[in-house]
Amino acid sequence: MKLIKRFMRNLFLSDPAAVFYAAVKCSDCGEEINVRIESSTDFQIAYNAHNAAHCYTIKKEIIGKTCFNLMELTLALTKNAKVLFVDTKACEFLKFDKE
Ligand SMILES: [Zn+2]
Repeated sequence: MKLIKRFMRNLFLSDPAAVFYAAVKCSDCGEEINVRIESSTDFQIAYNAHNAAHCYTIKKEIIGKTCFNLMELTLALTKNAKVLFVDTKACEFLKFDKE
């Protein structure tokens, strides 16, 4: 029961400055990179006529430590920060989590 409560709390953005992490894997060298995402600066309000649940969009450009591959990550989130869909360039999406 306690675990479920904690899980539920993590689903909602009660904290206006929530911090998230997205993990991606470089398709060139295989490096796994954690990207810090702050709701206050990285969440862009989205309006999607085809999907009313789509509330925020996050766009990140990522460069790893071991190569010069420029990666791009786009996340579409609901208002509760649940991932709706993911788009990547030059990398593989691994996960998106609250800190
Ligand atoms: Zn790389």
